[in-house]
Amino acid sequence: KENLLEIRNLKTYYPVKGGFFKRTVGNVKAVDDVSFEIKKGETLGLVGESGCGKSTAGRTILRLLKPTDGKIIFDGKDITNVSGKTLREIRKDLQMVFQDPYASLNPMQMVGDIIAEPIYNYTNKPKEELKKEVMDLLEKVGLPEDAYYKYAHEFSGGQRQRVGIARALALRPKLIIADEPVSALDVSVQSQVLNLLKDLQEEFDLTFLFIAHDLSVVKHMSDRIGVMYLGNMVEIADKDSLYAEPLHPYTQALISAIPSPDPRNKKERIILTGDVPSPLNPPSGCPFHPRCPMAMEQCSVTKPELKEVKPSHRVACHLY
Ligand code: SF4
Ligand code: MG
Repeated sequence: KENLLEIRNLKTYYPVKGGFFKRTVGNVKAVDDVSFEIKKGETLGLVGESGCGKSTAGRTILRLLKPTDGKIIFDGKDITNVSGKTLREIRKDLQMVFQDPYASLNPMQMVGDIIAEPIYNYTNKPKEELKKEVMDLLEKVGLPEDAYYKYAHEFSGGQRQRVGIARALALRPKLIIADEPVSALDVSVQSQVLNLLKDLQEEFDLTFLFIAHDLSVVKHMSDRIGVMYLGNMVEIADKDSLYAEPLHPYTQALISAIPSPDPRNKKERIILTGDVPSPLNPPSGCPFHPRCPMAMEQCSVTKPELKEVKPSHRVACHLY
């Protein structure tokens, strides 16, 4: 299958200002030389602790943030530096579902208008047609017709996220970046929203970048999974390969933390000591070395490259 998205050596750095004159005192390397691709129709799960750069990577791909370096190729076009009209055109095909359905919907706007807005902005469809399309979208995401005339505060978290999904779908995008779309929701409604996303993917031929902070949520959703740590991609593989044989010590620790429903397959949980270091001042060598139970001498000196060690299974670790 063809690639829909290709990210090559992407870097997104933020300047950090300090002191009385608010001079730039350093750079947060939020995304530091990350490469991956997403094929048409697949879901790539992107996992890591908060602050690892996964949301920043997503926002950079959407071009809500300016990349510092590297390339973003979307649907065969280099969109790394596009702006103005070209960027506006590309935004039709690239949409986002946000983490917080409470903050991402305008409380003053009727739900129908929230969903209609992108269509209204990009087309000059007559009012009746617009309304019919919104009614259609409401049905697709499992909301009743009268939701059109209500306001976000009248809905539960799960229903609000359905509104957010309808809005993201309105322009029939090719890629949806879902940034922790269920982590603000009750556990009881999480799987309903995940199943909805899966159904819509099938129906609308969507490709997903699905961002999450733990490996249990992405398991159900993803074809392939990438694991990020401190701005770096440390492992990327087919889902089955990643869960059956995680290679990076960090991935191994994340997987050992997933509760197993069967007490007989209880594996020893790997507890990581220490906190994630600051991305303003990342460790030398392997970014994981201060917390890695397997660290060797060279780990604090040389940074391991992400390389393929098994078919379509890449890892950045000196053990391999
Ligand atoms: Fe651990 Fe060294 Fe591998 Fe980094 S390179 S994950 S410190 S063994
Ligand atoms: Mg985030």
